[in-house]
Amino acid sequence: MKGKKNIKLWLGLAAAAVIVIPLLVLLDQRMEGSKPKVQLDPSSLAIGVTHELSGTVNDDNSGIRKIWIGLYKDGKESVIFEKIYGGSVFWGRSETNRADFKVNIAPEKLGLTDGEALLRIVVRDYSWRGWMNGNRTYIEKPVTVDTRPPQIEILTGAHNISQGGSALVIYRLSENCPHNGVKVGANFFPGHAAEGYPVDVRLAFFALGHDQRSSSGIFVQASDSAGNLSKRGFRHYIKKKRFRHDVINISDGFLNSKTPEFSMLVPEGEGLAPVDTFLKVNGEVRRRNFEEIVRVTGATTNKKLWDGRFLRLPKSAPRARFAERRTYRYKGKDIDKQVHLGMDLASIRQSPVPAANSGKVVFAGSLGIYGNTIIIDHGLGLFSLYAHMSSLARDEGQEVTRGDIIGRTGSSGMAGGDHLHFSMLVHNTFVNPIEWWDEKWIVNNISGKLELEQ
Ligand SMILES: [Zn+2]
Repeated sequence: MKGKKNIKLWLGLAAAAVIVIPLLVLLDQRMEGSKPKVQLDPSSLAIGVTHELSGTVNDDNSGIRKIWIGLYKDGKESVIFEKIYGGSVFWGRSETNRADFKVNIAPEKLGLTDGEALLRIVVRDYSWRGWMNGNRTYIEKPVTVDTRPPQIEILTGAHNISQGGSALVIYRLSENCPHNGVKVGANFFPGHAAEGYPVDVRLAFFALGHDQRSSSGIFVQASDSAGNLSKRGFRHYIKKKRFRHDVINISDGFLNSKTPEFSMLVPEGEGLAPVDTFLKVNGEVRRRNFEEIVRVTGATTNKKLWDGRFLRLPKSAPRARFAERRTYRYKGKDIDKQVHLGMDLASIRQSPVPAANSGKVVFAGSLGIYGNTIIIDHGLGLFSLYAHMSSLARDEGQEVTRGDIIGRTGSSGMAGGDHLHFSMLVHNTFVNPIEWWDEKWIVNNISGKLELEQ
């Protein structure tokens, strides 16, 4: 008899378990306590004339029920976003676990004036917690409403610029602008807050590319952290330039002596005829090398490191000039066209090469068509480049003084004979070195302006 009673008790307990345990599990799911996660785009914290506030909400458990965003300013709350997401309160489930939000804020339409405000975000999920109102995430962030575009005051007077040449403009900004500089056609040259100048003054070296038209628009552009953009033109005079054309005959002798080096640059071109290897190097490798130069010149010291005119390789004769249009000819046929973006200077073999001016070595090594190369940062976006050297006497990171020997001339890379290929760059643009060798040009166009504003 006792055994039967026990069985009944066990059956009763089992039946209760079958009902109660799933209920407990269901209840546990519905009572989940993890809050929704909100990620706000960091650029969202300064609000301009029109502003896009964006972010993402995640809730892996019961899912998103509601997103509410308000802007609190001068004692007034403006609701800028409110959305309820579908789901079942009974089942404690949302149809949405992840939502991106994008809100356009126009302070003027909301009747908001410039100044400090509070951004408030409330997100709820479908949990039964919070008296069935869900888990709540609350975020409060101070934001700035700034609808005024920055003021740009041009401090320099004359701006003469040649095609392929350099120039300097100095200007004052009414507020801090993370993005400011000179637009020249599609190109952009950043302005620099330079050591020794007032905090609101920016120096921008810029260049008109050898292939840019004289009608390319040139102006200063600045946008503040709220994204308000200003443009300001300045008086400038553009001098048109004509560049030389030259034919370069590619001989089998040249190809034979260069193919071992060239084939190292295009390992994928194994088995190609020497002239085709040459074409790959002159095209693809040249482009790749330019990308590397743009990367290297993308960072610069915020200080003018140079002084006086730039040195030219002593006792040298020019062999090729800046922006010379070259046609490459092989066995009487035109096979390629390129533009020569530096000066070729020839002296005696393995001549010592002086640093054209003081600065910091930012590249020292082998660079494709340029062979053994050194690039010196002279500060504020001005660089000099020395190519085809037989040996290098300086390493990356070393500081150099004007006249220091940085290596010896040679014929490494795309060079037929011993010479120095000397280039100058303003940020990502090759410029005519002749200007930087000319004391008078520097005084009239650069150093005169620098002293005036310091
Ligand atoms: Zn050259």
